[in-house]
Formats: sequence, structure tokens, C-alpha cells
Amino acid sequence: MSSASSCRTGFLWSPLFETFDYGRNHPIAKGRFSSIRDHFDRVGLLAQANVSTLEAELLPEELLRQVHSPEYIKKVKMISETGVGEIDLDTPGFRGIYENARSTCGATITGVRGVLSGEIEHFYSPTGGFHHARHNAGGGFCVFNDVAAAVLEIKRAKLDRILVADFDVHHGNGTQDYFHDDPGVMQISFHEDPEWMYPHTGRIGECGDGPGKGYKINMPFPMDSGDAVYAFAFDELVPPLMEFYRPQFIIFLPGYDAHYLDRLAHLKLTTRTIKHVAERIHQAAHTWSSGRLGVLTGGGYSDDALLWGSGAVMSVLTGHGYEVPKETPPFEDNDEIWAEVRRNVEEIQQSVFPVLGLS
Ligand SMILES: [Zn+2]
Ligand SMILES: [Zn+2]
Repeated sequence: MSSASSCRTGFLWSPLFETFDYGRNHPIAKGRFSSIRDHFDRVGLLAQANVSTLEAELLPEELLRQVHSPEYIKKVKMISETGVGEIDLDTPGFRGIYENARSTCGATITGVRGVLSGEIEHFYSPTGGFHHARHNAGGGFCVFNDVAAAVLEIKRAKLDRILVADFDVHHGNGTQDYFHDDPGVMQISFHEDPEWMYPHTGRIGECGDGPGKGYKINMPFPMDSGDAVYAFAFDELVPPLMEFYRPQFIIFLPGYDAHYLDRLAHLKLTTRTIKHVAERIHQAAHTWSSGRLGVLTGGGYSDDALLWGSGAVMSVLTGHGYEVPKETPPFEDNDEIWAEVRRNVEEIQQSVFPVLGLS
């Protein structure tokens, strides 16, 4: 096991990332990815000896064809050529969207390959984490599902226990769909209650099918959940699952959109908790996965919270210091929130854990 400060970490970049254009009022603003890169640069995270910048390649077409249907790929190409049409109601089309999506998703594959070859132990992509895209459709700001592509790429290396640790505030419905019956993929998803939150999936009962039953762990949080209940649920659920599964590769979405400043969701985390989760996942990667860990940015719609969270997570990977400004969440977890979170945690422990033989 290497000490944190010596972990070789790749930062993914391509000039193509910034060709996307969802329009002026879309939550994914132009300049989003370079704002993360510039922030890392400003605070010295990219200049460290153990950090290298890797040029992201395009998502290979053969992987793309495994992840998406020919009809859907054709639709994206058509929108890309004409600039007319949309992927979904909340996911506008634009000229060049096909190449753009192949670059943002390709970054994930370049990172995975770097880790598998041993060139790096961890990678950080300022984009990626498009967990809502499904075989035959995009949506939720996602065009192609890079998480699914990453899983397929990792499986080629004969690793058959892959953990998708998805802490994005929205449920990873696309990824869950692909691997619902596959015990080779454990997906732990912490997200806001699907009752009112997009994509309205991720209930505790959706725990996988057939041989994959029990390997999809969905932990929904009520509106206004903050640091204390989140850390409680993490400690109760995640360590026993990781110890049971002993993942050989971890793909991690940190959940910057669960921050209290986020404008699309209603959880109340501070960066402290996002960092705490990252520390535990990083530690687990060294304990179980020979350090193999890839971080995909996913959501995050407060500019400040996105940069603080990214900086904190990158500092965990690389072992270099990063200071988060003082944060003041609007309130603390109340009794009602505690009761619901405890109920959900217990339900998972009583209905999903036993399927895996965990008590
Ligand atoms: Zn490390
Ligand atoms: Zn999200």
C-alpha cells in the first residue's frame, strides 16, 4: 500500500470537453470543466510530482456500440451533424454533440486504462459520471453512459468485482439498468428520495435481479438531510458492503450536487462530508483494490461547491493540502429526518443485507 502523498494520480483533459453547448440557461454552464482544471492549477494540485495530466482519448466506437443501441447512436449523430433536435427534454442537442460526448466519456476510459496498465493508481476526470444514460436513450444531461463503458472495459481485464460508489444526489438509474442482474457490479447509490427527485428511481426494493439480487444498494435520503445523518448511513452501510464484496476496482462519483448550496437538489451536506466519504473510499481502494480508483465528477450545480468539492477530493487522491472555506449549512438534521434515515438504513440492513448473506 502506498502512502497517500505518493499515489500516482492522472488528471484527464481534452480541449474537446469545452465544445459542449447546452445553451445559456442550462445548469451545465459553458466553461464548467475548465473551471475545475483552472482551480486545481491555481491551488497547485496539478503541479505535484505524483500528478500527471493525461490527454483524454475519444470513447472507442466499439465500446460505444456495446453500451448504446444503433438507433440511439444514429440519433445522436444526426443531431450532431445538423444541430437540430434534442437528446431529451432537459438535455439539448447541439452541433458536434457526438464528438463532445465521445471526448467526455472517453476521458473515463483513458483513466481506466491508465489504472489497469499500472501507469497510475487513481484518476480524476473533471467530467464523466453520466449515469442517467441508458441503452436506447439519453437524458438527465447525459448523452452516453461512461460508467457502463468503464465497467465493460474493466471486465476485459478479467476483474469481476467492480464497485460503482455513486454518491451523486440523483439516482444512477442508467448504470443500474445495465447491470441489474450482474453480481460483477455492486452499485451503492446514496441519493435524494425518488418520490420527488429525478429520475424517480432508486427505491430500496430495487436491489437487483436474478444472480445480481442484493448487489444494487439504494439509500434514499429525505429532503434537507445533512452531514450527521449522511455520515451515519455511510458508516452503517458502506464498510460492511465493501468488506463483503472486496472490490477490485472502484468507480466513484462524489456527489457535489448533495451540497447545501446546490440549486437542483435539497440535501444539506458540507464539503467536509464529501471529503470524508472520499477519504473512506480512497482508503478502501488501497485496502481491497490495489489502489484502483477512478473519480468521475458527475453533478454539482453550485459553482463554489463544485470547486470546493473537487479540490477536496483531488487532495484526498494526491495527498496534497487543500483548504475549504468555512461553510455554514442553513440548519442541522432534525428528529424527523433522523427517524426516516434510520428507518431506511434498517430496511436495507434487514431486507438487502441478508440476500448477500450479511447480517
Ligand atoms: Zn491513493
Ligand atoms: Zn446529479
